[in-house]
Amino acid sequence: MSAQIIDGKALAAAVKQEAAAEVAALKAQGVAPCLAVILVGEDPASQVYVRGKINDCAECGILSRSIRLPATATQAELLAQVAALAADDTVHGILVQLPLPAQIDERAVIDAIPPQKDVDGFSPVNVGRLQAGEPCFQPCTPAGCIRMIESTGTNIAGKHAVVIGRSNIVGKPAAMLLLAQNATVTVCHSKTQNLAQLCAGADILVAAVGRAGFVTGDMVKPGAVVIDVGINRGADGKLHGDVDFAAAAQKAGWITPVPGGVGPMTRAMLMHNTVLAARRAAGL
Ligand code: NAD
Repeated sequence: MSAQIIDGKALAAAVKQEAAAEVAALKAQGVAPCLAVILVGEDPASQVYVRGKINDCAECGILSRSIRLPATATQAELLAQVAALAADDTVHGILVQLPLPAQIDERAVIDAIPPQKDVDGFSPVNVGRLQAGEPCFQPCTPAGCIRMIESTGTNIAGKHAVVIGRSNIVGKPAAMLLLAQNATVTVCHSKTQNLAQLCAGADILVAAVGRAGFVTGDMVKPGAVVIDVGINRGADGKLHGDVDFAAAAQKAGWITPVPGGVGPMTRAMLMHNTVLAARRAAGL
């Protein structure tokens, strides 16, 4: 293996430490950052994610509220919860854990979160601001990817970045953030032709496909920075990324592992965004 590992756990710990220090400074000025997380239903994976977020808050000194609604909750009930949190000045961030049960219109719920409390960065105003290069809440996963690339000392400007995947939560915002840093960005997706060839020309390769081992060794340019966003549960019960790690690590300059890569950074960036929301709300 020639690639150096980008240690997501260590980087995430540093981001959380930064957040904790900011929380302490805000508390000294009478502001207690608070994140509210709404979980609808009993989805086991969602329960794990929400528990993780609440634990992260405790670790950073951020207050948290966990609101649980039954799987049968109506859209009106969920919107009422969001409205109550939106009106509550002691709550700085609102996060509705996705996916939502089928009877609820996800878009309508995200739209109901005030942009200044939208710490996931999914509301239309934040999406638009990101696109326009204005201050916003950057979605946690792609923001974490950028921090990981920066941690390698790579100057993103002028590099050819290839993003595989065009979802609203990962691929598209990752492409926007890379563009904002002056990368030349190619977005690949399920209809892309010559995908392997495009990837093989990438100085920075971000894989957000959702298919284990999708990125093979021959798709990696020697010395490239490879960011593996994928989380795929294998038949072996273990988590696998979108990248064939062993093969890609032979060629890449830097690579993120799965687990222990983008996942922890995503969680840490939520803490960063929550602190930012509290600071902005207080006008500090
Ligand atoms: P998604 O299913 O919404 O999007 C997948 C994208 O991959 C689509 O845009 C699609 O066009 C593209 N794609 C699918 N098949 C393809 C193919 N054969 N060739 C090229 N492109 C193809 O998924 P998502 O929400 O963006 O998540 C992607 C992966 O990242 C998943 O494994 C998910 O679990 C993971 N994820 C991880 C984190 C984290 O914190 N690490 C956060 C979010 C998502």
